[in-house]
Amino acid sequence: MSAPIPVGPAPVLVLVPGATGAPADGGPRFHLADATVPQLSVTDLVATRGDGVFETIGAFDGVPVNVGPHLARLAHSAAQVELSAPDQATLAEAVDAAIAAHEDVAELSVRVMLTRGIEGTGVPTCWIHARVSDDWTPYRAGMRVATLDRGLSTAVAETSPWLLPGAKTLSYAVNMAAVREAKRRGAVDVLFVASDGYVLEGPTSTLLVRRGDEFTTTPASAGVLPGTSVASLFPWLQAQGHQVAERLMTVADVAGSDGAWLLSSTRLAAPIARLDETELPVDAALTDRFQQVLMGRA
Ligand code: PLP
Repeated sequence: MSAPIPVGPAPVLVLVPGATGAPADGGPRFHLADATVPQLSVTDLVATRGDGVFETIGAFDGVPVNVGPHLARLAHSAAQVELSAPDQATLAEAVDAAIAAHEDVAELSVRVMLTRGIEGTGVPTCWIHARVSDDWTPYRAGMRVATLDRGLSTAVAETSPWLLPGAKTLSYAVNMAAVREAKRRGAVDVLFVASDGYVLEGPTSTLLVRRGDEFTTTPASAGVLPGTSVASLFPWLQAQGHQVAERLMTVADVAGSDGAWLLSSTRLAAPIARLDETELPVDAALTDRFQQVLMGRA
């Protein structure tokens, strides 16, 4: 193991050997590295082709949430792009090490990255990077969202699996371009709409819609990423006596709903206060309870 990196406010990087399992020589399974100096090769296929998969895990007061589901989803994304991921126990330990090596802060964003590695080597590159989360307070109060055409139908998983629907790949340039388009339209986030008219998800979030006592999300079969946040919120909603469902919805369904949120692991529950030109009700008390659940505190 290399020299320990001092605990500090700077981003923390943990490098994990890309091969699966522990090294045969019993050497270190990961080591701490300094994220303030370059670590990635310019010939890594993530740099040249955006070829890799990732996860973003939220950690609140030093406690990461949903690590198992995130690492299981990483393994699933990796399988979709035919990459072998390090074993989940090693990754979970490395996530803990990254958090422990970071200065104590209220909200950390922990990225687990797995790439196809340096061109020609066939060895994946894997690292974990912890940094202070962005300040999501304004989003959690209610945000303006623009609907944008995703250009793909809800049958994409059947018709075109090579487009990797439901994989969390490192080719997020399109997702980020969509957010910039939303900003040009006076909104701060996006709700993607499929070419057959059904709403999908946000560029980095899952849709949750309320109608009366029922809370609905888009089915993963429509080509959206299966969200860990909605997966933890659903059992809680059911325990509160609500109905939950996965069903295709139209823009009109969302616009006419009793409330809608975009859910994700670090921003948590962000209510949609306005969808294009339609104002939606925002339930601040319920949203606060969602935040507690999503922080692993309920
Ligand atoms: N959908 C997409 C495209 C995402 O990138 C994300 C998270 O980044 C989500 C949904 C929400 O997933 P989770 O709740 O697991 O953070």
